[in-house]
Amino acid sequence: MTQPFLPGATIGILGSGQLGRMLAIAARRYGYGVQVLSPDLNSPAGQVADREWGSQYSDIDRLKDFVRRVDVVTLEFENVPVETLNVLEKFVPVRPGPIVLETAQNRLKEKRGMRAFGLPTANFIEVNSAEELKEGLSRFGQQGIIKTASWGYDGKGQQRLSPGDVIETVWQGFAGQPAILEQLVDFECELSVIAARNPQGEILCYEPILNEHSHHILDVSTSPSSRFSPAMVQRAQEIARTVVESLDVVGVLCVELFLTRSGDLLINEIAPRTHNSGHLTIEAHETSQFEQQLRAICGLPLGSVRQRSPAAMANLLGDLWVDGQTPDWTAALKTPGANLHLYGKPAARPGRKMGHLTCLAESPEKAESLARSVRQQMIPRSASPQS
Ligand code: AMP
Repeated sequence: MTQPFLPGATIGILGSGQLGRMLAIAARRYGYGVQVLSPDLNSPAGQVADREWGSQYSDIDRLKDFVRRVDVVTLEFENVPVETLNVLEKFVPVRPGPIVLETAQNRLKEKRGMRAFGLPTANFIEVNSAEELKEGLSRFGQQGIIKTASWGYDGKGQQRLSPGDVIETVWQGFAGQPAILEQLVDFECELSVIAARNPQGEILCYEPILNEHSHHILDVSTSPSSRFSPAMVQRAQEIARTVVESLDVVGVLCVELFLTRSGDLLINEIAPRTHNSGHLTIEAHETSQFEQQLRAICGLPLGSVRQRSPAAMANLLGDLWVDGQTPDWTAALKTPGANLHLYGKPAARPGRKMGHLTCLAESPEKAESLARSVRQQMIPRSASPQS
């Protein structure tokens, strides 16, 4: 029987962005110590940790020093080299472990893995040449999405292909890197399920969250959603449960899914960590995804995933800092039901996740419209189209 890490133990986090920050805040609430390691300094997570290790993930001496000071390691960022986890795992439990990370880091391994577990994904083929790309496109009706197999996120390293595209030119942009061509999914909507599993094998899944993207970045998440039937909710949770069980995940993992127009669920990708869409669990659920991650990696009983209130989350990207002006926080601060989160990032850049806003209301529709309208009111006055 694995011994739990009780309050007073120290959590080591790889990566130091907002997901690590919110985990650190949850850990602090229970009196855990927190140390974060990433190449950055004055990072969102580092600002609230006991210690911030500005270190390359490949610096073995620093990793050994770091791991001597923590009891368990987790990650908040999936582009950490698998080798780093292999080094750390010799000293303390790393949750989730290297195999989960390896699967999630490579779209080909990920999709093949999901298929091997009997789970549905979009049709895909591996592409290593312009010829293979042409062949794949002819199979998929001359349409599809080509993605680099590794290191892609938020739509980076991918291109949508349509009839008439010059395949040689497209391939030049991807040449040298293994790629995957996916059949274009005609989806009704996108959703995510956040699942947690502790070392004892206990699994809990939150209800699916409806996700809307803008320019490939998550824009607004809502839960619950009237677009999901009870049978679909159950099926989505079963899929997430199978993923965490089959990959032997300890920690939190998010499964991103498409709901197709014919009513099928297809896995788009998995993230072996907490997820942007799950931020609304902080206010809307009995246990936030961050507290759940803490409980899971420490071997504590998982917390209730019961939802207390309909909720919607709107991301606050650097674009809101129009012409370098600070957004109008009062819009959020004065609105009942609105909860503002800022990540302490010093520089706002377009597309950079600077914070988020979660609104609670008596219905998901009202929560969503409140989140959108409060965010709109935050646009600095001189830049707002209404002014
Ligand atoms: P990804 O980086 O794989 O999460 O893709 C970013 C976004 O591109 C997704 O959230 C979808 O909106 C869209 N997308 C990705 N793959 C497909 C696909 N096979 N068919 C249709 N849309 C897709």
